[in-house]
Amino acid sequence: MTASPLLDVAGLNVRYGYVEAVRGISFSVAPGEILALIGANGAGKTSTLSALSGLTPATGRIAYRGTDISGLGAEKRSGLGIALTPEGRRVFPSLTVAENLLLGGAAHKGKHDPAAKREEMLSLFPILKERYHQRAGLLSGGEQQMLAIARSLMSAPDLLLLDEPSLGLAPQIVDQVFELIVKLNGTGLTILLVEQNASRALEIAHHALVLANGAVALSGKASDLLASPDIRAAYLSA
Ligand code: ATP
Repeated sequence: MTASPLLDVAGLNVRYGYVEAVRGISFSVAPGEILALIGANGAGKTSTLSALSGLTPATGRIAYRGTDISGLGAEKRSGLGIALTPEGRRVFPSLTVAENLLLGGAAHKGKHDPAAKREEMLSLFPILKERYHQRAGLLSGGEQQMLAIARSLMSAPDLLLLDEPSLGLAPQIVDQVFELIVKLNGTGLTILLVEQNASRALEIAHHALVLANGAVALSGKASDLLASPDIRAAYLSA
């Protein structure tokens, strides 16, 4: 019944000097699923995503489509179909929405037509069409988050590593961002979602991992974690 995982992580470790941010975690992500990675501040969620994208050095085995990619740099991993939308919606504020999008696809020109990809993004994100010629720095927080996600998708990834997309957004904008994540997943995109807003993440995820002090404290079906009163009390503030 289980398809081969798209991503298979075994014994992943991330250290910053003496700080062991991620301590030997193992998990896999099935094609087409949303896997939520939740846990308190400092649990190691961002470090995990950063290690998977190739931006932060790590040890352990990372297999993508069955091939060990642990030795590959960030650019190669991106070329294979792994994209990261970092925490804090790092758009280029002085560039327009159009320019931000084109930069997102620039490294992948040979693989697909950036103009076609940009049109696809504008139909997925109508607000970006309205703001197309505006500087990204003038967009609202929610619009910048949409742009940051759309920019990551310009490389036509199969796996999106999405770090704290709801951070700092007003509740109704958070709703829109979560609706968008579900919509993107509906197009076949596999998503590894890091969220502080654990309850919301579990509502849309298929499976979840709870990280505590750099280790996996719990894992399972998102609906089971959401339904358990003990887990709610221990890990979910809501
Ligand atoms: P948050 O939600 O606060 O971002 P997180 O679960 O994403 O938390 P990480 O950001 O991965 O956690 O941090 C894990 C641990 O590693 C923390 O103790 C943090 O202080 C430490 N850490 C993160 N980045 C660095 C760094 N560049 N140098 C040193 N320590 C770091």
